Amino acid sequence: MSKKLAINGGTPIRTKLFPAYNTISEEEKKAVLQVLDSGNLSQYLGAWTHDFLGGPTVRKFEETWCAAFGVKHAVSINSNTSGLFTAMGAIGIQPGDEVIVSPYSMSASAIAPLVYGGIPVFADIHPDTFCMDPRSIEARITHRTKAIVVVHIFGHPADMDSIMAIAKKHNLIVVEDCAQAPMGKYKGRYVGSIGDLGVFSLNYHKHIHTGEGGVITTNNASLAERCQMIRNHAENIVGPKGVTDLTNLIGYNYRMTEIECAIGIEQIKKLPGLLAQRLENVAFLNDSFAAFPAFEILPTLSDGSVNTYYVYPIKFNKEIAGIHRNKFVDALKAEIPSAVLRETAPLVGAGYVKPLYLQPIYQQKAAWAYNPKLYEGHVDYSAGICPVTEQMHFDVLFTHEYMRPGMTREDMQDVVNACDKIFSNIDELREAK
Ligand SMILES: *Cc1c(COP(=O)(O)O)cnc(C)c1O
Repeated sequence: MSKKLAINGGTPIRTKLFPAYNTISEEEKKAVLQVLDSGNLSQYLGAWTHDFLGGPTVRKFEETWCAAFGVKHAVSINSNTSGLFTAMGAIGIQPGDEVIVSPYSMSASAIAPLVYGGIPVFADIHPDTFCMDPRSIEARITHRTKAIVVVHIFGHPADMDSIMAIAKKHNLIVVEDCAQAPMGKYKGRYVGSIGDLGVFSLNYHKHIHTGEGGVITTNNASLAERCQMIRNHAENIVGPKGVTDLTNLIGYNYRMTEIECAIGIEQIKKLPGLLAQRLENVAFLNDSFAAFPAFEILPTLSDGSVNTYYVYPIKFNKEIAGIHRNKFVDALKAEIPSAVLRETAPLVGAGYVKPLYLQPIYQQKAAWAYNPKLYEGHVDYSAGICPVTEQMHFDVLFTHEYMRPGMTREDMQDVVNACDKIFSNIDELREAK
């Protein structure tokens, strides 16, 4: 039986928008009102006094984070981006240093070293996890390499045993970008507690959010202190505090407010439930998608590891399907809509982000750090340096968010029905040019 595909003018499977992903409700409202009633919206002082570490809600938020994420120190910060910048400062990145980064991540994961004059060096990803491949990391190490920024991309934990072993062997610092993996685990340990520093995001795209915001985690007291200083006007602090190593201690204002932290405390409480719902939805979709031979989905993790599925990656086999991934994704977009609250943001995309080294900033080496007086190494940003990333992005991978909490079985069944309709009428796409 042939049903004309929506992309060819047929009737779509569904036009009613999917439910919003909205984690904000009465608890957050109440918490915000309490802060407003107090009149104290921020208590930070950029000076070496009691208030250098912020007000009561900032401190409570950080304590709550430590307890929930199994770390000794949590430093709240106004974004994951500023958190990564702070981390690069705290670990002492200097002009001429190289930092190994992932080309398949949000841009901030790779750009952070440049703020301190460090040079991002891209390692390729592993085709099964989309996280950096330890073998590629090791191949990129030179005498200039100082650190690795690991990304637990899409919520899948990176191969931390191998990466930590490489770091130890070569005396490198490891920063984990956990923006997409809050409460994700690697072999029973929370991500963000394994490397030297972890950085989380609380922007509105993420599992939990405070509008904008972030957290740096560490078990190292002196790194935590350096992060606190960079967050809050370090130059005013170092004198009175008696800090002697002033490396990178120019301070910023990267502070979160009392209101944001009040929201954050409530969001942490909701995270385990939100994650459980997400994993339940993933299990349903995994079962349903098993009917489509052209879909290769990630295996469910054992070993005490937890994938938080920020987005759900599928490898699309064009040989089996007989059409290119891009045609499939376009056809899927035509069959089902986006979601309430972010109507303009499609819930499915071909690939994720263009491999970062192809961005103009790297192609033109348009940053002061590339000045040959500062950097005598040779970093290659040519197309082809990370072939797995390029193949996944341009040919194989597609990512979607149809497993978000709030999606009902019926909603997800519409997604499955849309895929089924496309595969049942695939000839229509083969013929159409
Ligand atoms: C969202 C995200 C960031 C940036 O987070 P902000 O809080 O918006 O600065 C960085 N890295 C990854 C992997 C992300 O997903």
